[in-house]
Amino acid sequence: AYTAEPFVPEGADLAALRSAAAGCRGCPLHRAATRTVFGAGNADARVMLVGEQPGDQEDRQGRPFVGPAGKLLDRALAEAGVDPAEAYVTNAVKHFKFTQAEPRKRRIHKAPSLREMTACGPWLAAELALVEPELIVILGATAGKALLGSSFRVGEVRGTVLEREIHGRPERLVPTVHPSSVLRARDDEDRKAAYEGLVADLRVAARALG
Ligand code: SF4
Repeated sequence: AYTAEPFVPEGADLAALRSAAAGCRGCPLHRAATRTVFGAGNADARVMLVGEQPGDQEDRQGRPFVGPAGKLLDRALAEAGVDPAEAYVTNAVKHFKFTQAEPRKRRIHKAPSLREMTACGPWLAAELALVEPELIVILGATAGKALLGSSFRVGEVRGTVLEREIHGRPERLVPTVHPSSVLRARDDEDRKAAYEGLVADLRVAARALG
């Protein structure tokens, strides 16, 4: 089975984890992607935001949430009263998965499979064990499935505080949509409603942090 396990050093701090992850060959996604995009942010963060996987911009720049979805997320966090500087951001899968009709054509995001999410899980588990956030914000279905299992449905639990055991630790989690879903809305009206929904869920997270 695919797994990142043999690449995850024991007793490492975040910096050592990040450099080890740069050489991960735990699943085939490293082949087409440019680089590993490891989590970033405050190592003592009270809140950890978990997305799906890096996108095109993240793959180029090597940092999570630097593309259009990340900019929208920062705006929504600020509006909800969560200081982005207080957060640690990462993804369930650390390499960009995409399809491309021809070389040099636009790279189109493709959702990671359950096998790839499972393979990449040890990196997320290691980040959680080191950062020990008070709250996890789940951004979208892939992050939810990676943390809570394949029966996760974001629409059923978004904007609520869940208490679950994750990788052997009791965690509090607030699920919401992935910010890229706001960008994909059909028209301005839908986009506004989707954005407001995201901000409302993040307000639940802000209140849970106290
Ligand atoms: Fe390793 Fe995750 Fe990249 Fe797969 S996606 S190669 S498990 S870092």
